[in-house]
Amino acid sequence: MTDRNAELFSRAQAVIPGGVNSPVRAFRAVGGAPRFIARAAGAYLWDADGQRYIDYIGSWGPMILGHGHPEVLQAVQAAAREGFSFGAPTEREIELVEAILHWLPSLEMVRLVNSGTEAAMSTIRLARGVTGRPKIIKFEGCYHGHADALLVKAGSGLATFGHPTSAGVPPEVVQHTLVLEYNNIAQLEEAFAEHGAQIAALMIEPIAGNMNFVRASVPFMRRCRELCSQHGALLVFDEVMTGFRVALGGAQSLYAQHIPGFAPDMTVLGKVIGGGMPLAAFGGKRAVMEQLAPLGPVYQAGTLSGNPVATACGLATLRCIQQPGFFEALAARTRALVQGLKTEADRAGIPFSVDSEGGMFGFFLLPELPRNYTQVMASDAARFAHFFHGMLQRGVYFAPALYEAGFVSAAHSDADIEATLEAARAVFATL
Ligand code: PMP
Repeated sequence: MTDRNAELFSRAQAVIPGGVNSPVRAFRAVGGAPRFIARAAGAYLWDADGQRYIDYIGSWGPMILGHGHPEVLQAVQAAAREGFSFGAPTEREIELVEAILHWLPSLEMVRLVNSGTEAAMSTIRLARGVTGRPKIIKFEGCYHGHADALLVKAGSGLATFGHPTSAGVPPEVVQHTLVLEYNNIAQLEEAFAEHGAQIAALMIEPIAGNMNFVRASVPFMRRCRELCSQHGALLVFDEVMTGFRVALGGAQSLYAQHIPGFAPDMTVLGKVIGGGMPLAAFGGKRAVMEQLAPLGPVYQAGTLSGNPVATACGLATLRCIQQPGFFEALAARTRALVQGLKTEADRAGIPFSVDSEGGMFGFFLLPELPRNYTQVMASDAARFAHFFHGMLQRGVYFAPALYEAGFVSAAHSDADIEATLEAARAVFATL
């Protein structure tokens, strides 16, 4: 632990709950003081002590170009000079939405908001509003932000109506949230058989990045699509993390390769589309989206929504990642990282499994890739903490919890990957 970080952490804890403005930053899962970041450039972060880290968090997903990309920086500076916020529409909002629609053909209209939480919450309200039904399905281990109705976790393995995961959420608020096991087709069928006519929406992270990195299997996703269509429920893809991160067309484009004609009914976006600024979005078919105020009866609004500086940042980011070969190069570098980690772990005789898609990855101290939350949680947390701190000491910043995905940016070089693998070799030898 370095002195200035520890000093800032105690100062922060005196005035900010837990010393942080979002819980996972506090290093509770791994122990120790979080690093207070002073600045960032490209693939690197520098903490308050001037220590440099190779950054595999990327602000939890948005920084796909790395930090301070010159084109993005220029767009943000120019926009800031024109004004921070108007509370009135701008042309840039249209441009950003048009760019999103271009790459995600399942959407016809989009509304911009400030956070993934807001986007997911508004999507649920809209789904309930258009279907006139109360119930929603979510999956254990999937996170859709901290709106009350979505802060629910299932009991182990059984389909049950949720109990709130947070204090302050009355049971009545989540009584319509059905929590199922990820990748469990039998449970899904049972839920629709019993409640089908009452289900407004099924919301899913197609690649779940909030339980590290777990893919929904193709048969499972096919069944989700079929059952939603049969019962008139909306299939909602939460692509806050995967959108413009695993592919330009998001995770939905990957399922469409395996399931002919596949498309979700609605999509929730965030992170990359804002390039590091507070910006998120939700969208779907015109007939559904036109139920939103001011056209329809479903209310939703925001003082800073479609913010001109945030949209400039998002647009510049999307422009850069559309360059030919961008995703191929990003995916190759990400694969080199995880496969290199796997090789080092194998050499040290440590059970290890890895997966990645585009610039998003996961690794597990488990012999096989997990398929659901229970399997993810079977990981050895103490061993992970040891690995995490070993890497951090050697200047490599992975997510400080074993249930978080990791991210590679276009700024990560082959030398960064090599340095990471060298550090991993040293740390694996101590596990
Ligand atoms: N959905 C997913 C899939 C997410 O990963 C997150 C945040 N990590 C959210 C929703 C919530 O987004 P925000 O933190 O911007 O509210």
